[in-house]
Amino acid sequence: MRRGRLFVVAGPSGAGKGTLVAELLKRYPRARLSVSATTRDPRPGEREGVEYHFLDREEFLRRAGEGEFLEWAEVHGNLYGTPRRDVEEWLDRGYDVILEIDVQGARQVRERVPDAVTVFVEPPSLEALEERLRRRGTESEEEIRRRLRNAVRESGEKDGFRHVVVNDELQRAVEELCAIYESESSSTET
Ligand code: ADP
Ligand code: 5GP
Repeated sequence: MRRGRLFVVAGPSGAGKGTLVAELLKRYPRARLSVSATTRDPRPGEREGVEYHFLDREEFLRRAGEGEFLEWAEVHGNLYGTPRRDVEEWLDRGYDVILEIDVQGARQVRERVPDAVTVFVEPPSLEALEERLRRRGTESEEEIRRRLRNAVRESGEKDGFRHVVVNDELQRAVEELCAIYESESSSTET
């Protein structure tokens, strides 16, 4: 069976990664989203093993030390990592695997998996990003400020990505991401 391809979707918090990837997953049954591990507290409604694997810091660092993560990084004050074994298993079974991770993680994946397809999702402006974070309503004011500061730094790294998708009008951005997926998916290889 043909091995799947790894896709990395990164970009500032609130840019719309989750929204765009959810649309892509609805369309392509061959694409799977990797469930990351994190030390942050679950938000209301988040379930263990669905949105994340929730670990305490000690357990996370132990697993990181044993090489269990394909990449890991500290993001907005918490640790996040991609479980290596899950990703390998899905790729071996022929699925394309999507990682929705931050720019530091994307950099590590680029080094370790050179044929990974990297996509940077950019908000149309900092003002739009702020408005989206506020409207989403999942972070405190302090957290929103921190995410906006990080967004400026993260956008400085977009040149390292193979594709940049500006998430201005949602439907247009979904089509652009899906076109990238279709052209780079392992199923299109001959
Ligand atoms: P991320 O996963 O990058 O943190 P989300 O997908 O959670 O971002 O999107 C942040 C917020 O912005 C959500 O409330 C989402 O509904 C909204 N959003 C996403 N894309 C757009 C868009 N193109 N226009 C307006 N709002 C959007
Ligand atoms: P949130 O806490 O809002 O779910 O995610 C915060 C940030 O962590 C987002 O930018 C998200 O992309 C990033 N993130 C989620 N999972 C991972 C991961 O496994 N590795 C890395 N490096 N970043 C991640």
